[in-house]
Amino acid sequence: MCGIVGYLGDKQAFDILIKGLHRLEYRGYDSAGVALVDSQGNLNVYKTKGKVSSLEDYCKDKDTTGTVGIAHTRWATHGEPNDKNAHPHYSQSKNLAIIHNGIIENYLSLKTFLQKEGYQFQSDTDTEVLVQLIDYIKTQHNLSLYDAVHQALSQVIGAYAIGVLEKNNPNVLVAARKSSPLIIGIGEGEYFLGSDASPIIEYTNKVVYINDEEVVKIERGANMEIRNLKNVVLQPKVHELSLNLDDIEKGGFEHFMLKEIFEQPKSLSLCMNGRLHRDLGEIRLSGILDYGDKFERASRIIITACGTSWHAGLIGKYLFETFCRIPVEVEVASEFRYRNPVIQRGDVLIAISQSGETADTLAAMELAKKQGAFVYGICNVVGSSVARLTDSGTYTHAGPEIGVASTKAFTTQVAVLTMTALALAKRMNKITDEDYKRIIDEFATIGDKIQTILNNRDYIKEISKIFTYAKNFIYLGRGFNYPVAMEGALKLKEISYIHAEGYPAAEMKHGPIALIDEEMPIVVVAPHYAMYSKILSNVQEVKARKGKVIAVVTEGDVDIKKLADYTIEVPQTEECLSPLLTVIPLQLLSYYIAVAKGRDVDQPRNLAKSVTVE
Ligand code: GLU
Repeated sequence: MCGIVGYLGDKQAFDILIKGLHRLEYRGYDSAGVALVDSQGNLNVYKTKGKVSSLEDYCKDKDTTGTVGIAHTRWATHGEPNDKNAHPHYSQSKNLAIIHNGIIENYLSLKTFLQKEGYQFQSDTDTEVLVQLIDYIKTQHNLSLYDAVHQALSQVIGAYAIGVLEKNNPNVLVAARKSSPLIIGIGEGEYFLGSDASPIIEYTNKVVYINDEEVVKIERGANMEIRNLKNVVLQPKVHELSLNLDDIEKGGFEHFMLKEIFEQPKSLSLCMNGRLHRDLGEIRLSGILDYGDKFERASRIIITACGTSWHAGLIGKYLFETFCRIPVEVEVASEFRYRNPVIQRGDVLIAISQSGETADTLAAMELAKKQGAFVYGICNVVGSSVARLTDSGTYTHAGPEIGVASTKAFTTQVAVLTMTALALAKRMNKITDEDYKRIIDEFATIGDKIQTILNNRDYIKEISKIFTYAKNFIYLGRGFNYPVAMEGALKLKEISYIHAEGYPAAEMKHGPIALIDEEMPIVVVAPHYAMYSKILSNVQEVKARKGKVIAVVTEGDVDIKKLADYTIEVPQTEECLSPLLTVIPLQLLSYYIAVAKGRDVDQPRNLAKSVTVE
């Protein structure tokens, strides 16, 4: 949610900031802006509604000189996306400018106070309140920028990652974070600020992750300083990033989403690397090797997540219950955290998040931890908040996912859950050696099988063109493939703006069947397993009402093929691994429908990649 970027060094900042904003644009893209302090000490702010390219046009005839700057791409929470609400925000004196990711929850009371003190506001945002507060404290107490930011933040309730600049002070940039991500990159005589590593990686791989309630001073020619809100001075811990530039560029694909769909054989192989040992017939996951007893002793597992990660969690339920016979509850994090859930000491909570920064998931983890649960994280971004908050966990190693609609993050999450359930079942003697080895053997071939589905992209593209007329879609599935149906529906909604619902196939009779007519496309995820004859009946029921059926079936299927209007085949595999295959045609279908409808696939309206506000 929102991207922030900053630079202080000996180069001109503007181009670095704009490039950084482009890299972060997937995080928010309703408006963009930049602030720079030039060599005369002028603090210039330029901002505009729309994407980063609009900002570039807007700045063409402006003075964009300066070797220190901050920039922002917004995902509005307070105030509509327009020019005045775009960041950076000046303070009333125009002495300060701020960029902010997050929400200042007590902004109204602070605003009322500041209005009484004579402050006037130009925008509807919560962010402007913070910069006015800093300005107020700074002038009242005659403080440095660093101290004023520090004091102001001790009055703030909410979430923030901020960058602040001051007029006549081209040598200092102050930043801080609470609950929103912030990274500082350290180059040769230069510093970078980013919501994640993507705007930093082409300049340096040395980074410092800023923790909650830490305020940072970056000063030209000096070492960075960090102080937390309790006034404790901290030593920056420098980490080395292993990311490379190719990972965050499109590499010849039209969209990041398509690139990421096609990357899945590779991302799954990276995810399984060193964990799934086909030669030894074994899965070695450090989380289970070290903490297996916590799972073994658990009376239940709670899985919590949001969006696509929640769908992966639903598949996790089938996996853990099938193989380990441990009861599993799966709940969206925003509900879990606020309903006073019953958590017992000894419960295991698995939190799943691509970015590792999802606000609701983090809050659910904190709650469960406080109440004595063992918290296990599954996330993609190394060093993210989820990774730092867990007792243990597993990285998905999918590589950076830039497309807003999640694809490779989902399949790697499912792969991690599958490996975890199998490794645990083995440890608990709940799976026979024969089944264990056979599934591992099959698991190792899944990337090649995905590749055969990807090779069929032209056929799926053709089908997609037929359905651009649709206003609604229904997706049906059973068992392991019921969450896949939900994920397929979500993908379509997100990027094509066609309304879609994912349903357990048999549940169709209890409502959605009323919607079926000759216009209605129904995607049936129907690979050939135990429930096949049941889902075949569901297809009959749809056809009897003249619905248009697109069926995802196992290679060589006969019966559903006869009934369906269109069939897409996936290779035969173990049932527990089938979601890794059946979801691929659904990703491609949504992608091609969205492209055919002229949608902005990588930056769909109203969405942002990493949901750092609750
Ligand atoms: N709450 C701020 C606003 O609405 C920041 C939103 C963001 O994170 O982009 O402007």
